[in-house]
Amino acid sequence: MNKDIFLSNSLGNKKEKFVPIVENKIGMYVCGPTVYDDAHIGNARPLVVFDILFKVLKCRFGNKSVTYVRNITDLDDKIINSSIEKKISIPELTKKITKNFHDDCMYLNCEKPSYEPKATENISLMIDMINQLLDNGYAYENNNHVYFQVNKFKDYGKLSNKNLDDLIAGSRVEISKNKKNPEDFVLWKPSKENEPSWESPWGKGRPGWHLECSVMSKKYLGDKFDIHGGGRDLIFPHHENEIAQSVCSSENHTFANYWVHNGFITISNEKMAKSQGNILKINDFKNKINGQVLRLALINSHYRQPLDWNDDLINQCQNTLNRWYESFVDVKKTILIPEEYLSPLYDDLNIPGYIANLHKLFEKSQKGTFKDKEIFVSACNFIGLLNQSKDDWLQHKKSKLDISEKEILDKINERNKARDNKNYKRADKIRNELLDKGVLIEDTDGKTNWKFK
Ligand SMILES: [Zn+2]
Repeated sequence: MNKDIFLSNSLGNKKEKFVPIVENKIGMYVCGPTVYDDAHIGNARPLVVFDILFKVLKCRFGNKSVTYVRNITDLDDKIINSSIEKKISIPELTKKITKNFHDDCMYLNCEKPSYEPKATENISLMIDMINQLLDNGYAYENNNHVYFQVNKFKDYGKLSNKNLDDLIAGSRVEISKNKKNPEDFVLWKPSKENEPSWESPWGKGRPGWHLECSVMSKKYLGDKFDIHGGGRDLIFPHHENEIAQSVCSSENHTFANYWVHNGFITISNEKMAKSQGNILKINDFKNKINGQVLRLALINSHYRQPLDWNDDLINQCQNTLNRWYESFVDVKKTILIPEEYLSPLYDDLNIPGYIANLHKLFEKSQKGTFKDKEIFVSACNFIGLLNQSKDDWLQHKKSKLDISEKEILDKINERNKARDNKNYKRADKIRNELLDKGVLIEDTDGKTNWKFK
């Protein structure tokens, strides 16, 4: 197998061979959540996609060779507004939402990143970077604000393919009398009363949002590193501004080499938006569906493509996992996955291609030996599936049903009595009631067995 990894690079918009800066020291930074409200399934997609990229990189370059940094934005206008709305303090809110976010990650079976820095713990480094940008002539201060002067950076717009005229014509730039040019973006601003604030050379205030990722990626990965990831929606202005800040404050004038972006999620072909009332939170699924089903659904289309979320998708993934668990065996030792099966993952993280291979391995395992089952389960484990024992999987299925084991056995007894009394109508009714609750009964050799369908 060709062991080269290829990735679609948004910078330049083409698929490229991945060549690390240093083979055994790969750095990946992914923009993390703003902890003002619980994560929705749109937020869940990059979590799972970059979790799998992390696994693939570790598989190719070695477990200890990859550093994955994902930040927590715990300082933002949305957080301030949400704390007012919810009538709780900002630290209380961010602590609670961060905990929920970690629960969501566990539910989706995502590995912890190597580092998870918080914005509020890195303010002094942000002040340092602003000073550097002022010294280098890319930023200016006005009226307790500091702005990045976009027209000083000739590569601005390279990632998003936008030129300055497009930007100015667009409505996305914030108008302010403090700015030299409308496209300039804020690095530091004064805080209002009761808003979090820090002392700085430009008065008490707080940093602009984009700054934290430039600072925290540099802190853990250096001025230049390999992969920067996130959702497509972050390309402009967030990632464009990150590049401007990082490149213009560093001496070697580079930043991330590969920009990897995942596509959007739609809900039954509608855009997911607060105004549409169709925001699906990860938490909403927890009591109903096993996290593995959600995980499989989130990787159902290629990470760069849009993904439509609907009931059919969930049912299809539930059924796939039900079947796959038929071949479940407890894998205790490390089993190498045949390389020809891994190859789609090396080709721009083609997860659907890999899932097609999992189906092939499943078919083989059904007719095959214990070893074939071990290979199949290991291959599922590699992308974070079939990680629970069969009992745990069935347990979750049970808990999602409104029926206990005792109730099932009572119903079966009742049905057997009805059959003894030749009341077949009643017996069929009980059988169908159980079927409605997802319980299938089978009569063999005078005994009645049951299983979840
Ligand atoms: Zn970011």
